[in-house]
Amino acid sequence: MTKKFNVLVTGGAGFIGSHAVLALLDAGHRPVVIDNLVTGFRWAIADEATFYEGDISNSELVQKIISEQNIDAIMHFAGSVVVPESVENPLKYYNNNTAKSRSLIQSAVTGGVRHMIFSSTAATYGIPESSPVREDMPTVPINPYGTSKLMTEMMLRDVAAAHDFNYCALRYFNVAGADPHCRTGQSTVGATHLLKIAVEAALGKRASVSIFGTDYATEDGTGVRDYIHVSDLASAHVIALEALAADPERSHTLNCGYGHGYSVMQVLDAVDRVTNNKLDRKMEGRRAGDPDALISDNTAIKQHFGWKPQYDDLDQIVQHALAWERRLTDIQTT
Ligand code: UDP
Repeated sequence: MTKKFNVLVTGGAGFIGSHAVLALLDAGHRPVVIDNLVTGFRWAIADEATFYEGDISNSELVQKIISEQNIDAIMHFAGSVVVPESVENPLKYYNNNTAKSRSLIQSAVTGGVRHMIFSSTAATYGIPESSPVREDMPTVPINPYGTSKLMTEMMLRDVAAAHDFNYCALRYFNVAGADPHCRTGQSTVGATHLLKIAVEAALGKRASVSIFGTDYATEDGTGVRDYIHVSDLASAHVIALEALAADPERSHTLNCGYGHGYSVMQVLDAVDRVTNNKLDRKMEGRRAGDPDALISDNTAIKQHFGWKPQYDDLDQIVQHALAWERRLTDIQTT
């Protein structure tokens, strides 16, 4: 019988955090959520999880939760995630993603929490020299979002060297899909991510889908990304938790993706296939700062953690995203 952990999940009412809560429950652990509900939803948190409404920078509250709930580890998802917004308002990102992470890490060290799993991003690489990207390739973010996350990775590295503490930074590629049992999904209002926009359009919530750039150095000229099902990502967090506890001397920085990609056209083709319909596609110019292709090298996470993705199938990702989008319509209209 493996040890069961009490895990503080920051941002547990958000897209990825709410899936991590389910993955923890499914694995028999005990999630405790803290979320300020600025972008997350109370209904997205599984009923079995304990919930505290508040901000991770409220160290008094975080300390109280750590001792009251006997917290063993923290999964840290809370933060801001809109890249263009980070360019317009960098200080918001350095506050929400960097300064508040510093405060949370301080609370962890003070409260004797020894493990942290951190939501990092492929945006830490910027525009990589080549793809697939390996973890030891240069990290040169091209926007404040990527920098704000990279700074937190650096804090974690230094804190792990100085204290009785280890961490796993997971660098996410393009997270998509929804819980296969339709318990939660991507619910953000005004989302900018391709698949979310495509399923909204498929359900008539948008008139068309814009294709940003058709002259990239890719097979069909549109941008290629490594789309990973959110439930596979959530399960990677649970494995990371168990690995951190099993070897407290070791920390990890690992890519989280499938190691292969799809173009914008291929994603839209998959939506057409699944819905048996045709999305209205509008060809537009490139979006600033978009690389041609961004694909993970996932050798390390597979080797270190024995991570085995279960939903590496684009049509299935689309099916789950669509099912959730329908469900969301019901939630929003009742
Ligand atoms: N994209 C697009 N139309 C959209 C949104 C995105 O063509 O409405 C493209 C974007 O240029 C990129 C890919 O889809 O090549 C994935 O973009 P997304 O914003 O989903 O994630 P990112 O890779 O920027 O994190």
